[in-house]
Amino acid sequence: MFSVDEIRRFFRGRIALDEPLAKFTWMKVGGRADCYLEPADKQDLIEIVRYVRQHDIPFMMLGRGSNVLVSDAGIRGVVINLEQGLTKIEVASGEVSAEAGVRITKFVDVCVQNGFAGVEMLAGIPGTVGGGVVMNAGAHGGEIADHLVDVEIMQGVDVVRVPKAECGFRYRHSKFEGEVVLSARFRLPAGDTETLIQRRKKLIQLRNASQPLELPNLGSMFKNPPGNFAARLIEQAGLKGKQIGNAQISEKHANFMVNRGGATAADVMKLIDLVQRTVYQNSGVRLELEVKLVGFQHEEQAA
Ligand SMILES: Cc1cc2nc3c(=O)[nH]c(=O)nc-3n(C[C@H](O)[C@H](O)[C@H](O)COP(=O)(O)OP(=O)(O)OC[C@H]3O[C@@H](n4cnc5c(N)ncnc54)[C@H](O)[C@@H]3O)c2cc1C
Repeated sequence: MFSVDEIRRFFRGRIALDEPLAKFTWMKVGGRADCYLEPADKQDLIEIVRYVRQHDIPFMMLGRGSNVLVSDAGIRGVVINLEQGLTKIEVASGEVSAEAGVRITKFVDVCVQNGFAGVEMLAGIPGTVGGGVVMNAGAHGGEIADHLVDVEIMQGVDVVRVPKAECGFRYRHSKFEGEVVLSARFRLPAGDTETLIQRRKKLIQLRNASQPLELPNLGSMFKNPPGNFAARLIEQAGLKGKQIGNAQISEKHANFMVNRGGATAADVMKLIDLVQRTVYQNSGVRLELEVKLVGFQHEEQAA
């Protein structure tokens, strides 16, 4: 049974009821969460996860919301965001350990400044380390899993470390969806800071030139199918610039959908459906969503 008064007795972070989630998602779309929590630190997170699990309260983890489409109906239960409280990052004995709420941009910067190579291609990905590990975020041939040693998660009410080989990493996937990632540890090859800074700069310029960053979006909506690019297939299907309500397939990058102001999750869902149907008719390829849908009824997703 869910009791905010009971939570208030031990929880040190921020609690908000009936909280609009659109402001916490990169696309600025989505309804409200019954209860929104920002743990004060890792121990606070561990305690609240133990509580919700022991009381069978539905909950979901939210990073920077840069890869989730939240339904207009919002989320029943608890949403836990780590961006305020789990932001510690440490460099020791040639390893970098980052709590789940650390921004990927910050993580990359600390690595680069300390002369560690192998993650500079992740610069510009607007998520957290936690969300990045769950999604196995990557760009320009590199993935967050490449130099990862292990991931600290909650298994039931216990804290455990999962070695990389057991994380189930593959393209934009890990076994941690629906789990709670607390932190991740990396061992990275040495690199020259100045060279890494230049590489990062070049890659960010490439991103700025090719992505519609001036409007709220969710990055790549669909995974690239083997041997092809989702953007190319969408463009070939003649869908670039197609708009439903206030959601639009970007003119700049066909695998991005942008919020032109006041778009609803329903608008985005209609566009997703249109893309999947039209691309299949046009090329026989079934595009798979990279973005996670949350708060939708099963029937809405299936439709
Ligand atoms: C402009 C733009 C560019 C992008 N470019 C790239 C790119 O180049 N490469 C790429 O891979 N992605 C890219 N993305 C997508 C996105 O940034 C990544 O997937 C990122 O890793 C998501 O992190 P997040 O913290 O925002 O996670 P969210 O979107 O908040 O969550 C994603 C999933 O992870 C879960 N989750 C989040 N935190 C935790 C946690 N601590 N424990 C357990 N589960 C958790 C959520 O429940 C959800 O299922 C881009 C997005 C945008 C908007």
